[in-house]
Order: sequence, then C-alpha cells, then structure tokens
Amino acid sequence: MPATAPSDTAASANDQQLEYVTSCALPTPWAQFTLHAFIEHGTGSPGAGKEHLAMVLGDVGDGEPVLARVHSECLTGDVLFSQRCDCGAQLEGALRRIAEEGRGILLYLRQEGRGIGLVNKIRAYRLQEAGADTVEANLQLGFHADARNYELCRPMLERFGVRSLRLMTNNPRKIDAMTRLGIAVAERVPLLVNRNAYNNSYLNTKQAKLGHMMTPPAAVPADQAPAPAATPDVI
Ligand SMILES: [Zn+2]
Repeated sequence: MPATAPSDTAASANDQQLEYVTSCALPTPWAQFTLHAFIEHGTGSPGAGKEHLAMVLGDVGDGEPVLARVHSECLTGDVLFSQRCDCGAQLEGALRRIAEEGRGILLYLRQEGRGIGLVNKIRAYRLQEAGADTVEANLQLGFHADARNYELCRPMLERFGVRSLRLMTNNPRKIDAMTRLGIAVAERVPLLVNRNAYNNSYLNTKQAKLGHMMTPPAAVPADQAPAPAATPDVI
C-alpha cells in the first residue's frame, strides 16, 4: 500500500465505525475478483450492523487513478431483474468495464432504496403507480429524495490504498460527495444503460430533479425500447 492519506477527525470516526473482516476469491462471468467484507459499527447509527462489500480486481494501490463504481444496494434491480430502474444494468456494466481493464474497484454499499430501505422503496413504488415520480414518492413518505451517505467510502478506499478515482457514475452528487470526503475524482466515466418502457420516466426524473447526467442518448419512446443486447451496457 502507498502512504496513507492525511486523516482528520471525521475520517478517524469513520475508521472506528468500519471493521474490515475478511476476503475471498469471487469468480464472475467477466473476471475473478477479490471480494472483501466490512461490518459497520456505531452506537445509534442507522447503518450499525450493516455488511458492506468491496470487489477488487488488479493492483489498485499503485497510486494511479482507479476505475471505480460506488454502487448502492438495490435488491429489486441487482438481484430480481427489475426494469423499474437502471441499477442492475449499471452494476453489471461496471463489473464488465473493470474486467475489460483488468483493474478496478466496486464498493457495494448496503443502503437500499437510496437509503430508505427495501420495504419503504416498495411503498414508494406503490405511490409511483398512483402517479408520483421517484422524488415525490420519497418525499410523500417523509424521506429525503436521496438519503444515501457515502462517508464509508473513504475508509473502504483507504484500506486498498486508493486515493484517486475514475468514477463510473451519472450522478454529480456522488462526485461532490467523494470530493468532500477528500477522495479525488480524476475523471467521470459515464455509465449509460439502455432505457426501457419501464424505466424511461424514472431516468427522466433522475435527470430533471436529481441532476443526473444522462446524455447521450436521447430518450427512447416507451414503445420503442431496444432489445437488451442491442447496444453495450456501458458507453
Ligand atoms: Zn434500483
């Protein structure tokens, strides 16, 4: 590992809240990653007891910017193939891209439903079926539009000696969050996935209300969604 980044009070507190536990090999269809397990502590913290993961490929501690994805858990999208959002396609696209380069890191943060939890996310989906968009639904339930917290990224990345990212994201808030944490974002790598009839309005809302950078491509009419394999997941 290279020299550690300068620490401050916040980082020290985070370090105490995050315990590194163990690792194993994780073969995937694209590459054999190393899977690292962390447990979050902290009395009274909403994240206490959560188990977070990092998937690492290649030498990420050499000081050069690292291709990276900071992915928040979306069980419906990541596991259940939901087409309501773009999470599953972004997860797969990021892992494919890291595998292509032979080097990178994916942090898998257990903050389901932009931080509101799985059951509340399903409540929000129900409200969306009654006409709310993804932001309005969260607000109607009494949550912020985006309740995610990225503070743990710093101790997780420091564990692997990663100090500068080529971050795969469309979300400017995520870039701002990394910068505030003292993590350099050397480059933003767009992570654009296919729109479909079910996620088109959701993606438009993320662009209009949450500032996500979704261009190109242009919006696809709901009845003309491309076949999943027609274009690459990552552009
Ligand atoms: Zn999702």
